[in-house]
Parts: sequence; C-alpha cells; structure tokens
Amino acid sequence: ISATAKPSPSQVPVGVDPDRPSIARVYDGFLGGKDNYAVDREVMKKVLQAVPEAADIARGNRGFLNRACRFLAAQTDIDQFLDCGSGLPTAENTHQIVQRANRDAVVVYVDNDPVVLAHGRALLESDEHAYIIEADIFEPATVLAHETVRQRIDFSRPLALLHVGTLHHLEGDSGAIVMKQYIDALAPGSYVVFSHFYDPETSELTPVAKRIEDVLVHGPMGAGRFRSRDQIEAMLPGLEIIKPNAVTEPGLVACYQWWPDGPMLRPPSLAAQCIAGIVARKP
Ligand code: SAM
Repeated sequence: ISATAKPSPSQVPVGVDPDRPSIARVYDGFLGGKDNYAVDREVMKKVLQAVPEAADIARGNRGFLNRACRFLAAQTDIDQFLDCGSGLPTAENTHQIVQRANRDAVVVYVDNDPVVLAHGRALLESDEHAYIIEADIFEPATVLAHETVRQRIDFSRPLALLHVGTLHHLEGDSGAIVMKQYIDALAPGSYVVFSHFYDPETSELTPVAKRIEDVLVHGPMGAGRFRSRDQIEAMLPGLEIIKPNAVTEPGLVACYQWWPDGPMLRPPSLAAQCIAGIVARKP
C-alpha cells in the first residue's frame, strides 16, 4: 500500500535527462563534489544567490551523519545499517565509518538516482558487507521487502535505520506515515538517525529557510520542504531520543550541534541552523 497519494517529484527517478537537476548531484556539489551537470549548477547558483551560506546546510548534515554513524558503531552493539537515500559516495560513507569500528558491520544503501547507483555499485564491488539497491525510499513496504534487504539485514535483531536529508524531499504530510512503517519493522533496541530541513520558526531564521525552499520547491528540482520542530518530531513516533550532550536540550538540535567534533571559533551561520538532526532508539 502506498503511503503517498501523489508521487513527489523526488519519487520519479531523475534518470539520465540532462535537463533535470538531481537532488543527489546538487547536494554533492554543495559538499564540493565534481559529479554535477550544468542544470545542477544552475540550481546551486540560485540557492547561493538566495542564501550565500547555503552550503553550510549540506556540510552540517553530512557531518551529523558521519558522527551519528561513528557513535552507533563505536558505542552501541548495532552492526547492521539500512541507509535510505544514501547519496553519491563521498570521502566518508556509512560503510567506511562503521566498518572502521566493526569490520563485519553490514550496510545496505538505498537510492533511486542512476548516478548514485552506478558510483555506489563500482565502489562496493569488492566490499563483502556493503550493498546498494534501487528503490523508492518513500515506499517503505517495497524497501523492506527487497530481496537484498531481507537477505542481508536480520529484522529480528536491532539495526540502524538512516533517513538523513531525505524526508524534506517528500511533498505533503505523509512523512509520519512513511516513517511509522519503517519504525514498526524495527526490533526493539534499534536506532533511527534522521535529519531534515528545519524552520526554527524565529523571525531571523524563517526568512532564510523560506528563501531556500522557494528555489528548491518552485524551481526545476521541485522538492525541499522546511518543516517545524513539531512536524519533524511527529515523524519519529514512540522513540527515545538520544541526548548528544548534557548541555543541549533533548530532542531535535541543529545538525552542527549534535556531538560536535570540537570547539567552534565562529558562530554558526543562519543557514547552518536550518538543518536539524536527531538520533533516537526504539525501546
Ligand atoms: N543521506 C545522504 C546524506 O545525508 O549525506 C544523502 C542525502 S541527499 C540530500 C538525498 C538522497 O536521497 C539523494 O541521493 C537522492 O537521490 C535520494 N532520494 C530522494 N528521493 C528518493 C526516493 N524517492 N527514493 C530513493 N532515493 C531518493
């Protein structure tokens, strides 16, 4: 049963159409990657015109993903990871981070972008514990029933479900339904790593969020919603939130604040505050 009534643009694979920008390539471009086309650079240019520090969103998000993987691999017993919307391989990918702590940790990546799938397959060819599959991450039943997922992940044991920088590419309000289907399939003791474009609903930050959303949603990419704390937290029903440190308030924090790597000498940009992350555990 489909959780979404009308497909979001991000559910229609971008294919090899050179006139359609790809979420994965634009995001990778903001991280400094080179696998982007003119149509992607045009989106990046418009975003940067709207908010010059917008790359801080991608950097903050990727840093959070890396630290959350390091935390789970090093400090919990989790040894299987389902990484939904994995993106183009960059220097530090989930399997490289978690396998540093546990060589046998299993990772299954899921994406629907052909460039991501091609690079991912090439990178993982010689890895015995990491796999990439093609599926629509907003169709949990399809992902969870996929042959490779069933073969490689043991759902009777705890696992980590990653939905990092993904749900803001789903239009409408079915995000909570999508995530509940995933969470229901997890064994107790499993973790969810989640991040989302965040509108902190302050007079200073909301205009920044709105300017980026305007370019992304009303431009050729057609996806990229900023949502409030309540809307984001509603996507993680019944989970216990892991506090990244004692001084941060529990729950959702800006990604750069989640278990930071070290001191920050400069205050974060307004853009850096517009992506929020959460790590939560199923009791
Ligand atoms: N999770 C990575 C990270 O946080 O660094 C990559 C995030 S990137 C912003 C979002 C990824 O989700 C892209 O690779 C895109 O192709 C993928 N994606 C978006 N919609 C999707 C869908 N409906 N099915 C599968 N993958 C999707």
